[in-house]
Amino acid sequence: MIYRYRPEMESPVYIDWRKKILKRDGFACQMPKCKARKRLQVHHIVPWSESANLRYETSNGITLCYNCHKEVTKKEGSYVGLFSSIVYENEKNS
Ligand SMILES: [Zn+2]
Repeated sequence: MIYRYRPEMESPVYIDWRKKILKRDGFACQMPKCKARKRLQVHHIVPWSESANLRYETSNGITLCYNCHKEVTKKEGSYVGLFSSIVYENEKNS
């Protein structure tokens, strides 16, 4: 299961964070060579549980489709570098 239910995820600040990231990423999966526009989710680059103060930083979120998100789950650590550089570029261009 990818998303454990957390009450914080219904908070306006979370919804706002998610919206900003989807918009910044052009409503497309940011995994190189994917770019899907369906079943989008916002992934925390540094996991939610590991960093309370990065939870609502737009630089810590990236748009992924359901399949890519599943691919990354449990391997989050090995994607931090890649995703951070993609987001850095997206932030510069947004
Ligand atoms: Zn994807």
